[in-house]
Amino acid sequence: RTVYVNGEYLPETEAKVSIFDRGFLMADAVYEVTSVLDGKLIDFDGHAVRLKRSLNELQMAEPCSMDELLEIHRKLVELNGIEEGLVYLQVTRGSDGDRDFVFPPADTKPTMVLFTQNKPGLADSEASRTGAKIISIEDIRWGRRDIKTTQLLYPSLGKMMAKAAGCDDAWMIEDGYVTEGTSNNAYFVKNGKIVTRPLSNDILHGITRKAVLRMAAEAQMEIEERLFTIDEAKEADEAFTTSASAFVMPVIEIDGVMLGDGTPGPIAKRLREIYLDESRKAAI
Ligand code: PLP
Repeated sequence: RTVYVNGEYLPETEAKVSIFDRGFLMADAVYEVTSVLDGKLIDFDGHAVRLKRSLNELQMAEPCSMDELLEIHRKLVELNGIEEGLVYLQVTRGSDGDRDFVFPPADTKPTMVLFTQNKPGLADSEASRTGAKIISIEDIRWGRRDIKTTQLLYPSLGKMMAKAAGCDDAWMIEDGYVTEGTSNNAYFVKNGKIVTRPLSNDILHGITRKAVLRMAAEAQMEIEERLFTIDEAKEADEAFTTSASAFVMPVIEIDGVMLGDGTPGPIAKRLREIYLDESRKAAI
């Protein structure tokens, strides 16, 4: 693979970042994952705007202009011949060559790293046709989940707990209400109405969430943004998640309780189709 590090395109084996980098030592870093279909970027602007917001919230410098960012994404997609896959982008606060809780001087250069992941069949994945089995776990993450930081240890552990239970993913619960999935936003459907948690500091403001809710509204689907419990979701007709890496993913089971007939529900399937179709047309 050819990867990008601080202005250079290099073979992945030659890319280097300091061991003092605060991204490595403290997860002082933000990231974005943008999907690629037909060799084009899906919802690039949404990801670029959210990156800017994450950087601002953490008082981190913007490493380059949004136009340059687009060029880097496009160049990596081209150099690596990606037709379907992902572009991973990470920006860290860098370092001034030592470890300290105090931020390094404001003129310290941020570290920016990008790489591609080739995922043929991403749009027509086996998982999306089967649907996902979910377990619920307590949400013990920090209080600024709206900032897309690389503090992903708990979500990673959650995913491992799901795998150990023979499932695919975990939804997290705080104060009795579902927040989101380990790496996706969570929804259920009851009597034709789509229910999902409203935006706040408690969840990531998903780029796919925004697009899917807009498309659902355009398709005259009913949407309610409110807190919901895992028990409500278990009694739902269907459920699904959204993310840039899995688009709309049907959920067929929650904590061992089968939803509907245990196959992907009609609204999730339809939203996946609409999302893929419209996103392909708008891809850049
Ligand atoms: N929620 C969390 C915790 C995530 O990590 C992600 C994606 O990584 C999402 C939601 C979905 O966001 P997006 O649709 O922008 O990929």
